[in-house]
Amino acid sequence: MFETEVPDDQRLHAAVERALAAITEVADLLAADVLDVCSDPELIPLTTRLAEIEDRAAASSSAVVARLDQSGAVRALGYLSTRAWMDAQLRNPRRENAQILRTARLLRRSYPATQRSWLNHVITRAHADAISNGIESAVKGLDEHTRDQARIDAERVLLDISRDHSPDIARAAVTRIRLAADPDGAKAAAVEADGQQWFSLTPVSDGWLCKGWLSNINGTALATVLEGRRNSRHHMGRTSEIDFSESLVDETYADEQAAKRIRHENALVLGEIAAELLNSDGAGRINGERPHIEISVTLAELAQGTGYGELSTPGAPRRQNTTPIDLETIRRMSCDADIRRIVTTGIHRDPDTGDEIDPVLGRLMAAPTEVVDYGRAHRIVPPGLKRQLALRDQGCVFPGCHRPPSMTEAHHVHHWSAQGTTDLGNLALLCTRHHTDVHTRGWTLTARPGYQAHQPGFWEVRPPRPPTWADTG
Ligand SMILES: [Zn+2]
Ligand SMILES: [Zn+2]
Repeated sequence: MFETEVPDDQRLHAAVERALAAITEVADLLAADVLDVCSDPELIPLTTRLAEIEDRAAASSSAVVARLDQSGAVRALGYLSTRAWMDAQLRNPRRENAQILRTARLLRRSYPATQRSWLNHVITRAHADAISNGIESAVKGLDEHTRDQARIDAERVLLDISRDHSPDIARAAVTRIRLAADPDGAKAAAVEADGQQWFSLTPVSDGWLCKGWLSNINGTALATVLEGRRNSRHHMGRTSEIDFSESLVDETYADEQAAKRIRHENALVLGEIAAELLNSDGAGRINGERPHIEISVTLAELAQGTGYGELSTPGAPRRQNTTPIDLETIRRMSCDADIRRIVTTGIHRDPDTGDEIDPVLGRLMAAPTEVVDYGRAHRIVPPGLKRQLALRDQGCVFPGCHRPPSMTEAHHVHHWSAQGTTDLGNLALLCTRHHTDVHTRGWTLTARPGYQAHQPGFWEVRPPRPPTWADTG
């Protein structure tokens, strides 16, 4: 035959050129909207075949890169390393290049059976990554003599598993092999993982950025608490603020929306937990005092409801240690909380010269104002009155909410800064979320006609807009 007369390396070049020509034709057809004329059932084999092409191409490319890495070809061009050449020439993210090269080297050096299985499309790239990287870290602690045999044994077992199972299963098997091969090492890794935990909260322009890394135990504990609290939110008739139920077009989209809702609710739950700890005695001490959130605002602005206040930010550098915050939120927070009263004249002074400056400019540059009263942290609603409220309201007065008094705050229907009184006739228990709704979403509380202030059911809670059926009836 003709092919047998052509040297193998030339056959390889020719085959790669044909493959490139073929995939180029595919891409050109797709770009010309050929899918418009494809029938639905055709799409399945097209998708699986293209995935196979992609994976076989990746396996081939991996084998070639490993050989290139051993050659002097890229250094001859002036590059310092294969990585440097890949970063410059292949349009992948740098991290991806590092992973591709690491797997390629491992397969060529120590896992030829895995490399062959990948080239033959018996396993995929994810399996090859899991097997080579997983075994390598599992045998790291073994001595040289046992290491080679352990590699061979583990590779055989993992290839067997990978033929029929997903890469996730292969990865789980790697973990078990590691535990069996080196229990001391696994224990040391767990201790190390424990020591590597971190969590940071950083104030950014319009919120806080949370990042972190938790051990298995701590992460599981937190995930469990969040799940439980998310569930109890639903039991209490409250779902998320954002309606994610709209336009659930397909399953992937629905999954994405569900994940988004969970992440959103996690944030709400964390805020609730913090608020509860601050309102109880469970938040430790700061400078010998119960921790409290410190807000500064001028009394006149708080009463008028115009302008904004400043929320002090613990741990932030001076001059940036306050965040502007809207007045409705401040009114809500100061309804019933340990607050430190910082009443100011509203006159801003230049921090360097001490000269009085324009109030708008002063706020923009966070210049200090003259403090006329720096009161001690105190509770607005005294404990005795809180007990009477708990007896009357039995918990959050919001329709359908059954949160107990311990999870509520006392809301001033007319805020104290606007001459509202602190007595039963002006107070109602609301949980944190519903308290927010009342302050920011326009729900209103009115005294039910004919009821006395001490009678259960005193407050009627009305939605911002009457429902449409009520308009007609
Ligand atoms: Zn309130
Ligand atoms: Zn409530």
